[in-house]
Amino acid sequence: MTLALRCRCGQVTGIVATDRAYVRATCYCRDCQAYARHLGQPGLVDAHGGTDIVAMNPLAVRFTAGEEHIAGLCLRKGGLFRWYAACCRTPLGNTPHDGRVAYVGMVTACLMPVAEVDAVFGPPGRIVLNAGSAIGEVRGTPMAFVLGGARIAAGILGARLRQQVPSLFFGPSGQTLRTAYPLSAGERDAVGVQTG
Ligand SMILES: [Zn+2]
Ligand SMILES: [Zn+2]
Repeated sequence: MTLALRCRCGQVTGIVATDRAYVRATCYCRDCQAYARHLGQPGLVDAHGGTDIVAMNPLAVRFTAGEEHIAGLCLRKGGLFRWYAACCRTPLGNTPHDGRVAYVGMVTACLMPVAEVDAVFGPPGRIVLNAGSAIGEVRGTPMAFVLGGARIAAGILGARLRQQVPSLFFGPSGQTLRTAYPLSAGERDAVGVQTG
């Protein structure tokens, strides 16, 4: 089964194959919150500052239009690459620096329809990451956290064993298809990125 990928203004579109998804999770880390502030769009985080993502194999995602609008940044040197639709500042997916690692955390803000996202992956909030930096108290399901982590690890390992070729935001030899610019010191200060 597939879900639709769409930035808020509709210029970037794609398809997500749900059978290549690992697990849905909500991340409350300070970086994800700062990133949402940097994008500056309403509704990207929940009431506790959480960003809802579906972790998946990058092969799950295929863009069908608007790829020229995709831009990337990292909040600090060595931080995750965060890819977004620059046309309307909709977050798309977060990846490690190494394109050979078969992982992308697709932000559910670009996935639809929402009811189908819920039907396929369950409601948000079962797997909670970095609850310590949430606004207020959040509580996930510990068993879901353990099983989810295992699914991600198994997916990444399986892709490595199959010698899966980097895709999505990376070319076949592992280089990024576009530059993920680091935020400037001023941009970091403006959204409260913590360094060091
Ligand atoms: Zn857009
Ligand atoms: Zn995070």
